[in-house]
Amino acid sequence: MAVASGRLPHSLILAGPQGAGKYTLALMLTLALECERQPRELWSTGQSLASYCGVCSNCTRIASAIDLPAQVEAAVAAREALTSTEQKDTRVLIQPHPDVLILPPDPPQLLIKLGQVRSLIQSSQYLPAEAPRKVFLLTAASFMKEAANSLLKILEEPPDYAHLILCAENPGELLPTIRSRCALVRLGALPIEDLEMMLADRRPDWQPAHRTLVARLAQGAAGRALSFHLPEYIAARTDALLLLRSALTDPDHTPLFKMTETYRAGAEGQLKTTSLLRTLGLVLEDLLLLQAGTPELVRNTDIRPELESLAAAVSFAWIENASRGLDQVTSGMRRNLLRNLSLDAFAASLAG
Ligand SMILES: [Zn+2]
Repeated sequence: MAVASGRLPHSLILAGPQGAGKYTLALMLTLALECERQPRELWSTGQSLASYCGVCSNCTRIASAIDLPAQVEAAVAAREALTSTEQKDTRVLIQPHPDVLILPPDPPQLLIKLGQVRSLIQSSQYLPAEAPRKVFLLTAASFMKEAANSLLKILEEPPDYAHLILCAENPGELLPTIRSRCALVRLGALPIEDLEMMLADRRPDWQPAHRTLVARLAQGAAGRALSFHLPEYIAARTDALLLLRSALTDPDHTPLFKMTETYRAGAEGQLKTTSLLRTLGLVLEDLLLLQAGTPELVRNTDIRPELESLAAAVSFAWIENASRGLDQVTSGMRRNLLRNLSLDAFAASLAG
């Protein structure tokens, strides 16, 4: 509605958890601002809602930026192909259309840097060339200090034709002076039932029990639910349960050692270990929820009977102790201790 009446604030913060659809919404707003045909959907209330055709040259070019990770990867690869002096001066920018500039956090620090904001300011000094407006989309709210200060300048006096959209997981991270110059829209968490319905539609190949599981793990974020790596999670959870079972009930630790041996050094092993530890943390939390008498909050609903038998075999103090041990292993992993040995030691400490 605000777009249709030309009242969309010049500076807008879209706030919400990861996967809540901030970037998708930002891109849809951009399409609605820039579409050559500017279609209007009339509501039964008589209000008109801005939309976009999806097929004009502005729409198709802008929509090409929908896969943000792929765009960032391509921009980073292009930078890596440059000489080292050129690399230093090159910031990651995505420009699907001459009048639309997208600023992702610049790797490896993953902060928005001064060079990126400078490009934004420079571009904002020119009238739009092919679309009705200039749109600047910042995909995260983590700034280098100088970059944030520099952004303030354009927020103080944005040109009439410019719109700035800032996606923020945590708007509290932003300078108060930036926040106060932007309108704030919060994207809320979706109910579990809505996510289940969406997954039934988009992931029909998943078992219903697994769709429920993912809907519960996604914490209200549609993007997180859709990009969830189910096989990887199930594999990590199988190992997490083996580790717990062998600590609690199984005197023969051979299967455990066989499993931990698959957690090797190197980048791949690191990802696998991180996902095992994270999943183990979730399972321990579920055990706590069962013991606390709040089974309705359990997330791993598809393995409820197994969780119940584990929860019956341990005490509250045991779970607490295991969580503390898990924190220690996690920080040890960060210091690059031998992965399989510290997993074995962790399991042995749980058994003892
Ligand atoms: Zn269009």
